[in-house]
Amino acid sequence: MKKQKVNWAEAVKPVVNKYKNSKHPLEAKNLYQMLVMVVLSAQTTDALINQIKDEIFKAFPNMKALSGATPEALIPYITKVRNFRNKAKWLTQIAALMKKDSAIPLTMDELVALPGIGRKSANVIKFFAGAPFEGIVVDLHVVRVAQRLGIATGDDPGKIEQQIMDSVPPEEWEVGMSLSFLGRDICRPTPDCPVCPMNKVCAFYNGALK
Ligand code: SF4
Repeated sequence: MKKQKVNWAEAVKPVVNKYKNSKHPLEAKNLYQMLVMVVLSAQTTDALINQIKDEIFKAFPNMKALSGATPEALIPYITKVRNFRNKAKWLTQIAALMKKDSAIPLTMDELVALPGIGRKSANVIKFFAGAPFEGIVVDLHVVRVAQRLGIATGDDPGKIEQQIMDSVPPEEWEVGMSLSFLGRDICRPTPDCPVCPMNKVCAFYNGALK
């Protein structure tokens, strides 16, 4: 089937509405916890980070507590996490800079200037805080879903983010998290297309992908 021209600004509304009140799978109780968990979760499952979080936050309950820690003090709590040595270094560097929870910045420029935080992590932190969108969360789920939908091509998260930003107006930029939820829930590696709210416009489902 030929690829249809899609008005993505309208087409994403069902998926945005479906997941509007969904909580991020990282079970953070506050912004400090979310920042720590997002940094730890790169290339690691959210489930593992949720498992180890209680011990981490018992030892380091806030930015002030972490700001006095060395990477060596944090490492014993995170050895199951991929790249844990660098992540311990980054988190203690961030804490030394911030010193208190209220100093955590909420602009893209300030967040991506911190060690261990790229655009994806910054978008997740901003989403959690309810800060104005400056971009779109593109994680591994979004990469898969966006390609199948046909809203973006390629597998570079930065380019996919830009393509979605070009197709969807800023007031719908929570669509990144919505597509991530869709990817965890329905558009899994084996997708359940008949129940998907995007199946009318999806290039994969409608046979428009080669
Ligand atoms: S219709 Fe199928 S392939 Fe397309 S987004 Fe939904 S679950 Fe994924």
